[in-house]
Amino acid sequence: MRQRNTVLVVNPATEEPIADLEQAGVEETDAAVARAREAFAAWRRVAPTDRAQLLRRLATLVEENGEELARIESQNVGKPIAGARGEVGMVAQVFHFYAGAVDKHYGETIPVAGGVDMTFREPLGVVGLIVPWNFPINIASWKLGPALACGNTVVLKPAELTPLSALRLAELVLDAGIPEGVVNVLVGPGRIVGQRLVEHPDVAKIGFTGSTEVGRTVMQGAAGTIKRVTLELGGKSANVVFADADLERAAAAAPYAVFDNAGQDCCARSRILVERSAYDRFVGLLVDATRGVKVGDPTEEATEMGPLISAQHRETVASFVDGEPLFRGDAPNGRGFWYPCTLVEATNEDRVAREEVFGPVAAVIPFADEADAIRIANDTPYGLSGSIWTENGARALRVARALETGVLSINSNSSVRPSTPFGGSKQSGFGRELGMHALEGYSEVKNVYLATD
Ligand code: NAD
Repeated sequence: MRQRNTVLVVNPATEEPIADLEQAGVEETDAAVARAREAFAAWRRVAPTDRAQLLRRLATLVEENGEELARIESQNVGKPIAGARGEVGMVAQVFHFYAGAVDKHYGETIPVAGGVDMTFREPLGVVGLIVPWNFPINIASWKLGPALACGNTVVLKPAELTPLSALRLAELVLDAGIPEGVVNVLVGPGRIVGQRLVEHPDVAKIGFTGSTEVGRTVMQGAAGTIKRVTLELGGKSANVVFADADLERAAAAAPYAVFDNAGQDCCARSRILVERSAYDRFVGLLVDATRGVKVGDPTEEATEMGPLISAQHRETVASFVDGEPLFRGDAPNGRGFWYPCTLVEATNEDRVAREEVFGPVAAVIPFADEADAIRIANDTPYGLSGSIWTENGARALRVARALETGVLSINSNSSVRPSTPFGGSKQSGFGRELGMHALEGYSEVKNVYLATD
């Protein structure tokens, strides 16, 4: 008899176990792919308005069960409850968006001699969706929405540490009336379940979000079956503050651009680049603003930052801080994987500025002028996100065009919305999620010529 393997799920704020789940292996993965394959034939034929209706119902169910989903996510990831509510709110918006997109993903007719040429957007088949632990339900929805809208069926693998919201979402999928087999969730390790999905000949595409290191393995594994891949990977984004910016506003916002989700955010603006002529004034404001971040019990309404995901991850984060930092905030003692908000002065050559910390540690780096800011911001293998703070509109656009990154914001740190494309350049990955752009990653263009002469 096979030994029973389980995944123990822990609350990172208390270290208490909250679930002990059966762990899937290769056999269960193959069975889930087979279920998804069987469901595909009928799901792709569901009329567009009916598919839209089902996604609309799912969005409404997420709204109706929002508080429960937010509590699951807060408990499992250690997220402050207010932030978790916002994230679940976005999940509903994402499903509403893709419900509306189902019948607006048009083909074309192309003028040719002797007949009519037309294109169709065909679904790919079974898609494998592999997601990380930092925004579990959010990132799952960014992939599920367009995948289902295009008529694919899905095997979703949440991260081992945070499977609970995906399991609850799968129940809501069925409650919405989406047929059995269309969405399958597997709890299991990446190197077994994830890898099997990547190599499985009946999986047409992998939508992956995670580290650049694992993304590389996914890309290599997908080569065996020429599988399509979308890779949303790590980041080391720059928050570029020019001396002509509204410094108070930029400094008040900067801590939340890196300490939100305890820094476990691929878009974290973890390199704060400041023009030298404004450096001292900005750093003073930044330290004051960072002191104001409320770190503590995620169940408290006012909490802004919770713990890290695990003890092991806390060790990694701590390894980036040598000596006395520019500022170190307070964090609870005792149980829970706590780490305080930390600011360090650095050069762009330091490890803290080169590698993704994925924790509440920001590197503050001075620059001389616009050209220097662009050079430093681009001097990284990553290219996911970033911000530019200046009151000079022409400069803002000049710098935005020069930065090698997929998503940017000007005089703001917000760049993720259901209706706008999101994704990286360079080693932050390729392909776009969200907006109408994501539909391209979950469909294939078929060209058909009909002779009329
Ligand atoms: P990870 O790469 O360790 O794991 C991501 C997922 O891949 C998990 O579900 C894991 O089980 C699975 N996996 C692990 N090994 C695998 C393998 N060999 N084959 C297939 N799947 C495998 O990442 P993580 O630690 O869960 O998340 C943190 C990383 O995710 C950070 O680097 C962060 O920047 C990145 N991230 C990127 C985005 C984005 O949109 N660009 C968003 C969130 C997080």
